Amino acid sequence: MQGSRSTGTEPSGSVPAPAHAAPVETQRPLKIKVIACEVLARQVYQQAARSPHVIDVDLLEKGLHDDAAVLRGELQRRIDAVPNPPYDAVVLVYGLCNRATEGLVARNAPLVMARAHDCITLYLGSREEYAAQFDQYPGTYYYSAEYMERGKDGRPAGAGAADAGGAAQDEGMAFNSRLPAQFEELVRKYGEDNARYLMEMYGSWHQHYSRAAFISLPCARCDVGPICAHAQPFRQRAQNMASRHNWQFVELQGDLGLLDRLLGGGWSLAGPATPDQDDLLVIPPGMAIVASFDERVVIAAAPQAEPGEAPTLVASGGAIGAVPAGGSGNA
Ligand SMILES: [Zn+2]
Repeated sequence: MQGSRSTGTEPSGSVPAPAHAAPVETQRPLKIKVIACEVLARQVYQQAARSPHVIDVDLLEKGLHDDAAVLRGELQRRIDAVPNPPYDAVVLVYGLCNRATEGLVARNAPLVMARAHDCITLYLGSREEYAAQFDQYPGTYYYSAEYMERGKDGRPAGAGAADAGGAAQDEGMAFNSRLPAQFEELVRKYGEDNARYLMEMYGSWHQHYSRAAFISLPCARCDVGPICAHAQPFRQRAQNMASRHNWQFVELQGDLGLLDRLLGGGWSLAGPATPDQDDLLVIPPGMAIVASFDERVVIAAAPQAEPGEAPTLVASGGAIGAVPAGGSGNA
């Protein structure tokens, strides 16, 4: 079958490609283990079903984000358990996520991830859009049906229920993953204990927000979306939160392009990324994920050496550099 429709001149016997068929793949199909945060579950399943690759999905609860060390431990345990062969790669559907993914080591197979601060980037589709939103409207609390649907403590949210009292406080997403950069700076200036205290002061969350943004993705359940009957109850809850706190309410159109490239193999295990693929990072076995604190967000580097020792970085997307010592010592 493969390559049989390359000329398009076969008089008979060849099966015509369906009208919606993607271009014929030149890359051999890979077997991929996807380790994803449940907040993108529907979209991950959808993109996995459409991918040219053979994909197995592991979903992790969003509640694991509450403790970066716990999430990191769980992710590393799952990465370590992926055998190669048969798996050619492990795709992480996570961003830096409060530095929870920092220090993760690619074990048997290469790790692939988006250069993303957190799931907000994956919803918005690019680092650039994330940065534009963050710079223009830093005090924004984000909502999406996909995120809210997953509820708390592993239970699905009661989408139809009225969100009385403060129950909806943690239904949204903050730009938490941009805070650690500030945290680093505070640690350098004031020491770690004081920095933690200051971060807790900053953490009284709703005082610092003035805007709620509901990110709509194409609905995975129907063709009516993005704001269909499935999304509307969640949108209403976000709107209720906004009016309760006197926040401006806006809707943002999400973009699945980044997730699509991540799961569709918009990256190569051989050779450096092309500029077009620059928003995806491949971490070779034995290398670790390191926060870059610049527009690259994450880079591949040798696993963290002794504290205080700046690790030497390998080329990653053409860039070579070194991480300044004196961070908060995630490892
Ligand atoms: Zn729908």
